[in-house]
Amino acid sequence: MNNIVIVGAGEAGGRAAIALRDGGYTGRLALIGEEVHAPYERPPLSKAAIVEPDEPRPTTISGGDRLGELDIERMTDVAVAAIERAERTLALSDGRRLGYDALILATGARARSLNLPGGEHALTLRSFEDAQRLRERIRAAERVIVIGGGLIGLELAAAARTLRREVTVLEADTRLLRRSTPEILASAVEARHVREGVEIAKGVRIERIDPRGRGFVVHSSLGSREADLVVGGIGALPRTELAVAAGLAVENGILVDAQLRTSDPDILAVGDCANFPHPLYPGRRMRLEAWRHAFASGAHAAQTLLGGDDAYAALPWFWSDQYDLTLQIVGLVEAGEAIVARELGDGATLLFHLDRDGRLVAAAGLGTIERIGKEIKLAERLIGRRASQSAAALADPGVNLKRLL
Ligand SMILES: Cc1cc2nc3c(=O)[nH]c(=O)nc-3n(C[C@H](O)[C@H](O)[C@H](O)COP(=O)(O)OP(=O)(O)OC[C@H]3O[C@@H](n4cnc5c(N)ncnc54)[C@H](O)[C@@H]3O)c2cc1C
Repeated sequence: MNNIVIVGAGEAGGRAAIALRDGGYTGRLALIGEEVHAPYERPPLSKAAIVEPDEPRPTTISGGDRLGELDIERMTDVAVAAIERAERTLALSDGRRLGYDALILATGARARSLNLPGGEHALTLRSFEDAQRLRERIRAAERVIVIGGGLIGLELAAAARTLRREVTVLEADTRLLRRSTPEILASAVEARHVREGVEIAKGVRIERIDPRGRGFVVHSSLGSREADLVVGGIGALPRTELAVAAGLAVENGILVDAQLRTSDPDILAVGDCANFPHPLYPGRRMRLEAWRHAFASGAHAAQTLLGGDDAYAALPWFWSDQYDLTLQIVGLVEAGEAIVARELGDGATLLFHLDRDGRLVAAAGLGTIERIGKEIKLAERLIGRRASQSAAALADPGVNLKRLL
C-alpha cells in the first residue's frame, strides 16, 4: 500500500493523517477537504469564539503546522464528488481524478436545518464561518431565540447570555438534552440557565419563522415571539452521501467493523460519519459526535491501515461548557439500568450508571472542572475494569474512587 487518501480534513481526518506518519507510513498521503482551512478544532466555535472579545481564528488541530511538516499532500477548498470503487479512483469537484490504494472517509456531519416554513432564517453552527457569522449577529442582537435545547443550542444560549443578550430557548421535547444527558443533570443545567436569566420553554412546536423588519417572528404553540436573531440547534446529520452513492453499507452513519473498515475493506470510516460496534457494549452500534471519538478513531484507522488488528475500543466521552459549568459524560449511559449519585460539594454531582450485574458502564458529572474532571477520569478507568462495584462506595464522597480501582 503506497497511496492513502483521506476524504475530509476535520478532526478525524487530520488525526488519521498525523497518526499514519507517526506510525511510520512513508507512502503518498493526501488529505482532501472542502473547507479552506487546515483541520481545526470545532469545540471552541460555540464557546470562546462567540464570547471572547478578540476576533476568533481557527485553532488548528495539531497546534502550529504539524500537518505541513509531515509531507502530507493537503488539498483544500475542493470536495470529493464521487468514489469510483471499481477503479479505486476519486472524482474531485474541480474535475481532477485521484487514485487510491486505501481510503479513509472522515466527512463528519452537517447541522440539521429546520424543516418548516421560514426554517432557512435560523442560523446553524458547524464551521468556523458559521461561528463568525453567529458572533457578529449575536453581538448585534438584543433578543435571541434558540430553537433546540441540545448541547450546541445550550452552549450558544450560555454564550449569548454571557454577552447579556435576552435569550429564549424553545425545545420540542419535554426535557432538555435528552439525546446526551441523564435527566437529573439536564434539570440542573436547565436550572442554571434559568438562574442566569435564560427563558426556557419545553414541549414547544415551532410552526414557522417570518422575517419582520430587521428581525424575525417565531410562530409556535406558545404564540408569536419576536427576535433579532433565530438560531437552530437541532442536531447534526452524518455526511454519508459519498458512501451511499458508492454503494457502501450505511445506516445512521457509514457502517464499519471493529477495525473501522466499511463494507469495502479498502475503505475505512472515522469520526462523526461512522457507525461502529464497541467491544465494551456488545450487541450495540453507535455513532458519536464527539471530539475524542474523532481524534481516537482517526488514529485507530491509521493503525488498521498499518497492519493492526485491534478493535477500536476508545470509550465514548464528551464534554460541554456552559457558564462556569462543565458537563462530562464517559461511557454509554443507555447501557445502564441503575443510577448511583455522588455529591461532590459546591453543587457538583457525579452519576454512576450500572448495568444489571453492577458493572459501571457510564459516569456523568456536572460542576466546575476542578470538581469533576479528576473524578470522571477515575470513573473512566473503573468502566474499563468491567468489575462489579459497590453502590454504597460509589455514592460515598468519602471513598476515593482510586481505592475502587
Ligand atoms: C460547534 C461545535 C461544538 C462542539 N463542541 C464539542 C464539545 O464541547 N465537546 C465534544 O466532545 N465535542 C464537541 N463537538 C463535536 C466535535 O467537534 C466533532 O465530533 C468533531 O469535529 C468531528 O470530527 P470529524 O472529523 O468527524 O468531522 P468534521 O470536524 O465535521 O470534519 C469533516 C470535514 O470533512 C469535510 N468534508 C465532508 N465531505 C467532504 C467531501 N465530500 N470532500 C471533501 N471534504 C469533505 C467537511 O467540510 C469537514 O471539514 C462540537 C462540534 C461543533 C460543531
